[in-house]
Amino acid sequence: MESTLKEYFGFTKFRPYQKEIVENILQGKDCLVVMATGSGKSLCYQVPPLITKKTAIVISPLISLMQDQVMALKQRGIRAEYLSSAQTDRNVHNNAEGGRYDILYMTPEKACMLAASFWSRLLDSGICLLAVDEAHCISEWGHNFRVEYKQLDKLRDVLLSVPFVGLTATATEKVRGDIVKSLKLQVPHVTIGSFDRQNLFYSVKSFDRGTAFLNELVTEISACADKAGSTIIYCTTVKDVEQIFASLKEARIEAGMYHGQMSNKTREDSHRSFIRDEFYVMVATIAFGMGIDKPNIRHVIHYGCPKSLESYYQESGRCGRDGIPSFCKLYYTRSDFAKADFYCSEAHTAAQRKAIMESFAAAQRYCTTTTCRRKFLLEYFGETCSFGSCGTCDNCTNSKTESDMSREAFLLMACIQSCGGNWGLNLPVDVLRGSRSKKILDANFDKLPFHGLGKDMPANWWKALAYQLISNDYLVETFKDLYKTLRVGPKGMQFLNSCNPDYQPPLYLTLTPELLR
Ligand code: ADP
Ligand code: ZN
Repeated sequence: MESTLKEYFGFTKFRPYQKEIVENILQGKDCLVVMATGSGKSLCYQVPPLITKKTAIVISPLISLMQDQVMALKQRGIRAEYLSSAQTDRNVHNNAEGGRYDILYMTPEKACMLAASFWSRLLDSGICLLAVDEAHCISEWGHNFRVEYKQLDKLRDVLLSVPFVGLTATATEKVRGDIVKSLKLQVPHVTIGSFDRQNLFYSVKSFDRGTAFLNELVTEISACADKAGSTIIYCTTVKDVEQIFASLKEARIEAGMYHGQMSNKTREDSHRSFIRDEFYVMVATIAFGMGIDKPNIRHVIHYGCPKSLESYYQESGRCGRDGIPSFCKLYYTRSDFAKADFYCSEAHTAAQRKAIMESFAAAQRYCTTTTCRRKFLLEYFGETCSFGSCGTCDNCTNSKTESDMSREAFLLMACIQSCGGNWGLNLPVDVLRGSRSKKILDANFDKLPFHGLGKDMPANWWKALAYQLISNDYLVETFKDLYKTLRVGPKGMQFLNSCNPDYQPPLYLTLTPELLR
């Protein structure tokens, strides 16, 4: 195995997990590989065909990605090719069937379209594995669900004794379960590498939309993008992409643009120029995604709260692939949090809608947490952290002061509880601030003992407090259709039960100026 690695790839040793995965595949076992971006997943399916002299089938979602990989493999003397619905070259088909490729890439649509006779001939020639790259696309819980992936289970019945390998860089427990089930993996060998990208520094800031902030952002970008490394700015809308692009242009900073409304050709040109360092800044929507294997991206800036932590982890993870310290910055405005229905338009079923809402709520909690961001991310992906603070995120490096908010927390939680625990955040805050809106009068909430007791503090302050109570598990968000409701969770109930109007046990929280904007 080591000599194959050296001969074809020029590497002297395997990275963590690679060897054990290859060994399991060689023994004919199904595998689930969950490893961070840049950890070397591809090698796990590229080595077995070179050892067994049988073809490896690789299912991959994007043609551009396959083209890149095929080209790189060919340069290494590996016989690689790809099949897509557009690819009708008879020769390629014949060679594929005849087992004359080491690695045969195909799109999921193509894989499901191929005739049974194709598979049986190829089986006769020898198949050493079937790998499904970006396997999270199979799950409705994933951030990138693709219907075509759902049909891959058909292949299991055709390729009975071929080891199946699902690979992904992002998978929560739910998604992992879905991959195993949908690909019908049989007692798979599961590898879960750490998600910790130690060379990345995480930070989050809130901002107010307007030219002042745009100018600030442009100054920041001009400071960080140069020959030493590139920057990607991810926006949530095409409009934002165009606006930032225009601002950069005005400041004479050379940049590229990438979004779904551009023609394929302009998009590809833009992608290529970025990869070739013809400019150092790319302003894009998340359509600029899979297959950006550029080692020297130094900054990934998100302009607007991302739709999920899965996508945030993957997008921000595109920086620092070369291991050099790099920066993941996120800017959000409070109004971003009201965008759930924008993201829900992608949903087809109630379950998908709920999944989207929950993922989005987690991204919001990441924005507003005042504890270690790395720990927050890692725990979200199911890792247990041995550290309390990482020292390489804004919350760990900024000095901040906690203060006792027991009375205010008591008021807010008791008010939410008294209102029945099935409203969003606005209503209980309005009750505390003494509003006499029709909704409040109709529900008799003006008669509650808490009505008006919080009028000294602005609504934003109460909301910031609520976000802290959410990220510390006192309050719990739940989702009904498109609505997010807030109730007091078990930890909050425990606190409330130990309170009375004259005494509240200490509860220390941090409300940073950021949160109060
Ligand atoms: P992933 O698919 O997990 O994001 P890749 O397979 O693209 O990661 O690998 C990331 C980089 O690491 C590639 O440039 C690859 O050549 C390199 N790499 C993979 N395995 C090894 C190894 N054993 N030794 C040195 N470099 C490796
Ligand atoms: Zn930290």
